[in-house]
Amino acid sequence: MNRRGLMLVICAPSGTGKSTLIKRLREEFPRISFSISYTTRAPRAGERNGVDYHFVSMENFRSLAAEGFFAEWAEVHGNCYGTPKQAIIDLLEEGQDILFDIDVQGAAQLRENMEEGCYVFLFPPSMAALRQRLENRNTDDDKTIRRRIENAPGEIAQSDQFDYWIVNDDLDYAYRLLKSVYLAEGTRPCYMPGLPKWIMHRKIDA
Ligand code: 5GP
Repeated sequence: MNRRGLMLVICAPSGTGKSTLIKRLREEFPRISFSISYTTRAPRAGERNGVDYHFVSMENFRSLAAEGFFAEWAEVHGNCYGTPKQAIIDLLEEGQDILFDIDVQGAAQLRENMEEGCYVFLFPPSMAALRQRLENRNTDDDKTIRRRIENAPGEIAQSDQFDYWIVNDDLDYAYRLLKSVYLAEGTRPCYMPGLPKWIMHRKIDA
């Protein structure tokens, strides 16, 4: 039976714990593909080109954007990030579910350009907790941390565009909610358009 892939788009202010939750979901469901974005940001320690991101120059990014290569792209915290369009279309047609870790501007564009998907917004438990997490993770300098904290209220203000809201104040519970959303969403008829016919003609196999 042919299945259509599901786009699971997850957005959150930086420091909410989005990457941890995404990592857990990918570990439990290795068949979910991950949309590898293009970015002009410099790689962080341990990040690999073509695995975490495709790291490109601003010139390269601009020419890809002008060619219509991206399903969405946005400037986030001073760098450009974009989602390659054709790669996504191919995966969805193959029936592959895809996870997206993108910002709120990208999510709005993706919904408009692709007209499908499940959009989840993750909230930090509080602004104070967000600040503490960004300071504790030791991946960014003070200026970057400040910028990410300043951007959070604007991101939260756009949360009403999303289908599901999850507050990450307890990682295990937030994960259970995210997993439930993913599993329930995949049972929508739009992802299995041929199912009734397939059931009607299915040979007895057990
Ligand atoms: P980071 O630099 O911490 O990896 O990501 C910074 C922000 O950029 C995160 O909110 C992340 O979700 C967002 N981001 C990553 N890839 C994309 C993308 O392809 N498009 C958009 N619009 N945002 C992205």
